[in-house]
This record gives sequence, structure tokens and C-alpha cells, in this order.
Amino acid sequence: MTRYIFITGGVVSSLGKGLMAASLAALLQARGFRVRIRKFDPYLNVDPGTMSPYQHGEVYVTDDGAETDLDLGHYERFTGVSARQSDNVTQGRVYQTIIQRERRGDYLGATVQVIPHVTDEIKAFATADTEDLDFVLCEIGGTVGDIESLPFMEAIRQLHNDLDRGQSIFVHVTLVPYIAAAGELKTKPTQRSVRDLTSLGIQPDILLCRCEHPLPDSERKKIALFCNVRPEAVIPALDASSIYAVPHQYHAEGLDEEVLRAFGISDAPAPKMDRWDDIMDRRQNPEGEVTIGVVGKYVGLLDAYKSLYEALNHGGLANRVKVNVKWIDAELFEKGDDIVASLEPMHGILVPGGFGVRGSEGKIESVKFARERNVPFFGICLGMQMACIEGARNTAGIADASTTEFGETSEPVVGLITEWMSKEGLQQRTAETDLGGTMRLGAYPAKLTGNSVVAGIYGSNDISERHRHRYEVNASYREPLEKGGLIFSGMSPDGTLPEIVERPDHPWFVGVQFHPELKSKPFDPHPLFASFIEAAVKQSRLV
Ligand code: GLN
Repeated sequence: MTRYIFITGGVVSSLGKGLMAASLAALLQARGFRVRIRKFDPYLNVDPGTMSPYQHGEVYVTDDGAETDLDLGHYERFTGVSARQSDNVTQGRVYQTIIQRERRGDYLGATVQVIPHVTDEIKAFATADTEDLDFVLCEIGGTVGDIESLPFMEAIRQLHNDLDRGQSIFVHVTLVPYIAAAGELKTKPTQRSVRDLTSLGIQPDILLCRCEHPLPDSERKKIALFCNVRPEAVIPALDASSIYAVPHQYHAEGLDEEVLRAFGISDAPAPKMDRWDDIMDRRQNPEGEVTIGVVGKYVGLLDAYKSLYEALNHGGLANRVKVNVKWIDAELFEKGDDIVASLEPMHGILVPGGFGVRGSEGKIESVKFARERNVPFFGICLGMQMACIEGARNTAGIADASTTEFGETSEPVVGLITEWMSKEGLQQRTAETDLGGTMRLGAYPAKLTGNSVVAGIYGSNDISERHRHRYEVNASYREPLEKGGLIFSGMSPDGTLPEIVERPDHPWFVGVQFHPELKSKPFDPHPLFASFIEAAVKQSRLV
């Protein structure tokens, strides 16, 4: 039997529901259960693909090519279960599906309504494809009381009723704020939030109370009494030292135990926490530290580079070092900031993915700095494209090298991809194609050159990595670029699309067209990040 855990949030947003869901799933998994986590986003965009990173943070791409909420990154990093398109649905997608159906005439004359049509669609998403699972955790985005989330609340209320008794529970994540002037934690916002929830027909089974100070027993009992839950089911969730400490912390507070009790499961094995013990040991006892400069555009909002930040840390775990990430706004180099002063203290330089011309000359200058100074360099997606433009301009004599993404150019070293093969067949695009969901998205295989640096790092000549891009390095520039020392060491299997470039004569210089950070896990660091940080450790011994 597949059981469902519905997770809602109250009082304020940004309480870390995603992390909570990921940690609970990890604990259940550590007890031997098969889990999957799903996210329902109440906004009207069909997916977050067209939203600015400043609006929504990173867009997390799945193997099957979905552009999804960044919480799916937490889910995958904490459980190792690859997320799919079917694990993230927005209200926009629900309505799109329903309206397309209505236009086809599928509703046979019926009036199409929120209840039952929208709620049925949401329930169908929640329950699809779950046969081989013990637990499905469904996180509802937003906060109780939002107008937008009402259909989702109604759908989970109905689903709780549709399922067998004991087959689903509700976990509500709230805030217990500390009022410094009174020196007290306040339970009223939690009481109000639960009242809002019960007015929608949902009685929570477990309350997870985020708080900055330990929750006294008296307050725990008070919350239990007013909110109609047992005191043991009021779980305090204090701020953690690191996100990887959260599973341990929730376990110590009894979260997984209470969840199992709510389902009436009394014979589950104790969780095997070795994986998390090892991660915490590596984090708490580093043998050194390195500083990586990330030269990008969205440095004002760190959620924009969520997976990248985590993957750099995983590289640190692999090498038992602490990784300090210095976020550097590429545009400042164009406005006269001293590039040498900024980049000289770095043990590694990374130019991440991105869109648009702003800051690009600063990124290209950063590539040049790393190449000339022999500092480890990692270019990801747009970062690889910038590395190729830098190579073309400064080592291949193509002074006007650019990308068609930034406007017309006589030397399109990077250009719009107009055709590629996918599992669904030949894909074709033009400059007029819609922007939403039309990039080269998801997992694609690549062939690596046998004796290349990257084949050594991966330990294989065949890889599969996740993509999200519209432009691609133009393979017709391969010869001049390779003469300048930038070797094309990974190509799409049909040999048309460059996937990886490297400089074998440099201590560590790799550019990749895909996003390796999306597949990195704390217990399974991505080989490219492990190797990049290893090179940064070597560099740190030189400077
Ligand atoms: N803007 C570039 C492209 O579309 C790179 C995208 C990215 O870095 N994800 O190809």
C-alpha cells in the first residue's frame, strides 16, 4: 500500500518545507522504505522555466527534461531518487491541461469547475505512478490562507477521504516566533494557522514548529491542546548548523517516529544513518579549505545557484575540505572593478550557467585570467560558451568571436541550435519559437575522447548529463580552437554538438555544455566537482 504524507506551511513562507520534506523522506528511506516526493506549486506559470532566477531561484531540470521548482533539487540530493516531470505540477499546468481538454470537447457539455475538475486533476497528479512506493510526500507550495493554494488544499482534503483510513496524514510546518522584548516564544500564530487549516477541513496530525529557541514543554503542551494534536506530535525544529544536519536533528526530535505512529506502523526498523554520519563527519572535521570565485550574474540571490553551491560543497566533502564560495558580479569587471585584485585570492574560478549579454565581457575576462594564470577553471553551460569565445578571441585570432544570443555577429562561435536528436526524434527550432519549454532540456548522452582529461575524471567514455540551453558551440570552429589549445573532448553521439572542452596544457580547465551540479549528491559527489575542488586544493598549496 502506498501511503501519502501531505505537507502544508503556515504563518510565513520560507520556513524550509522543501528541506523538511527531503529530510523526512531521507529518514523513511533510511528505515528501508521506498519514497518519492512531489511538489505542487500554486502559481499560474506552466513551469518556472520562463521565470527570472530573481523571482524563483534556480530552475531544477530533471532527466526527463522538466523545468521544475528548486525544491526538487533538495529532494533528489537527500534521497538520491531522480525527480521526474510528474513530481512537480503548477496550477498553471493543471489549468492548461483542463482548458485543452475543454477545447477538444472532452467534457461533453459539462460546466467545467474548480470542484471537481481542477481538484480531480490535482488528485490524479498526486496519485499517478506510485505503485512501487511505500510513501509519497506531497508538498503544497505557499502558505495556508493564500487564495491561490485553495484548490490544492481542497484536493488533499478530498484525497484523504478517498484513500483508506490510515493511508494518509497531514504535516503542517509553522513558525513559533521569539519576541525578544518579552523573552518568550509565541504560539498564537501557530494556533491561527491551524485554525485556518481546519476551516478548510484539514486537521493536521503532526506540527513541525520552526523556532530559534528551544520550545519549552509548557508551550509544546499548549500548542497540542489548542491545535488538537498529541504533545509528542508537536515537533520543535530549531535552526540547524547545516542542511545536512537536518535529518539527524529531526530524527532526534522524533519526527519519523511520530509519522510512523500516525500511520499505525510499529514494526519499522531503526533508521540506518551511516550515510549522514559520514557527511557530518566530513563537514565538521575538514582538513583544509579552499576559496572558489563564482563569476556570474545572479549573485544577489543565492537561491539562483542553489545546486551549484551544493555541488561545490559536495566536492569539498569528497576532498575533506571546507569550500568558501565567493560570489562575484561579472558586471563589476566591466564597470572598472580590479579583476586581478578580485580573482587573485581564488583557488578556483567558476563561470556558471546564465542568460543574456549583461556581464558577459566580465565573464570572458575571468576565463582569460584563469587561463593565463593557470588557476583551475570550470565553465558550466554559458560558462563553457564564454570559455570558447575567450579561446577564439585570444588563442585562435578570431577577434570578433561572439554568440548569436548577444546579437548579430560575423563570427558565431556560439549559435542557436536549430536541430538536434532527442528520444522523441528530430527537434527543430527557429529564432521565432516560443521561449517556454523549448530549450534542449534534460538528459542527453555524450561520447568522451579516450585519453582526455574528462574521460579520466569520469572513469568512462560514455556519460549522460542534464541540459538546459538554446545555444551551442559551433563545431565548425573546432579546428582553430583546438590549434589554440582548447580541445573538444566530449561530443554528442552523432558528433555534431560539442559537449565538453578542455585545455590539457593547463592544471585544470574544463568547460561543459550541461549542468553537472544537478546530479551531485552529498553522499555521491559529482566527479567533475570532486576533481575541480581537488585541483583547487593543489592551487591553494601554491599561493
Ligand atoms: N544562455 C545560454 C544558452 O541558452 C546558456 C544557458 C545556460 O547557461 N543554462 O545556450
